[in-house]
Amino acid sequence: MRATIVDSPASLDHVVPEGHPEHAGRYTAVRDALGALPGVQWETAQQAPVEALARFHSVEHVDRVLSACADAGVDGWVSLAEDTQVCSLSARAALAAVGGALLAVDSAVETGSGSYFVLARPPGHHAEPDRAMGFCLFNQVALAARHALDVHGLSRVAIVDIDVHHGNGTQCLAERDERVLFCSLHQSPLYPGTGNRGETGLNGNVVNVPLPEGTDSKAWRQAFSSEVVPALRKAQPALVLVSAGFDAHAADPLGGMGLTEDDYDWAASQLAGIAAEFAFSRLVSVLEGGYDCPAMGRSAAAFVRALSRA
Ligand SMILES: [Zn+2]
Repeated sequence: MRATIVDSPASLDHVVPEGHPEHAGRYTAVRDALGALPGVQWETAQQAPVEALARFHSVEHVDRVLSACADAGVDGWVSLAEDTQVCSLSARAALAAVGGALLAVDSAVETGSGSYFVLARPPGHHAEPDRAMGFCLFNQVALAARHALDVHGLSRVAIVDIDVHHGNGTQCLAERDERVLFCSLHQSPLYPGTGNRGETGLNGNVVNVPLPEGTDSKAWRQAFSSEVVPALRKAQPALVLVSAGFDAHAADPLGGMGLTEDDYDWAASQLAGIAAEFAFSRLVSVLEGGYDCPAMGRSAAAFVRALSRA
């Protein structure tokens, strides 16, 4: 099945202080790697309306982010958290990232099938309803899930988070909405410190799989197959959403795992298989972390190539 990339060029507008790992070069690296793939379609993200953010975020949080951007001025930044700064155009990037995720859900649901990869930054999975953190302003994947449930009327969605960090913000959604299954494989201990096995959400709709530093391909795939796949099969989601971070790659400077491009190919195939079985092949992936640009580009390309093959 042909995969579609929803590209958000506004990703370049979110400029961060010198030396920050979540910089615009990440977007460019992935865009260039995906641009070399044959047979994929491209669409362009538009900014989400601010009202759409209320499906997950508090009005106060949205106001805080937008006001911080307005206060940043030319060539300046305002800090929303120790590691999370915004410039005057960051809101444009963040709203387009959300808009890309919503567009992907609209397209997947309205066409009845298809794999989508949202190429956008900043990432989103650490953003909580009322808090920006971990480089994340708005939670794209959580908003995509609520959009699918509340606007399109889907009965149940699954979010699989393969970023090396736990998606604490996205877990907040599952803890409030039992129509969402949230599964996360992540390194532990590591930022943000959440994601223990004991955090099981509502009736077990949170499945955390913490893995030690040094986890290799074999152990990661084993954990995915034995814990995530059964949870997905049990939930039978009408849409599969993926927080596609590539910082579990062996080359990543922020993560300590040992994955390779082949593992992202494999994971995409597994997820596409679940989507084909339960969700009319509807699968929407959003880019999260990944901080070694060459490895991230190759990993994203392997992931999308596998989606287009599925
Ligand atoms: Zn990460």
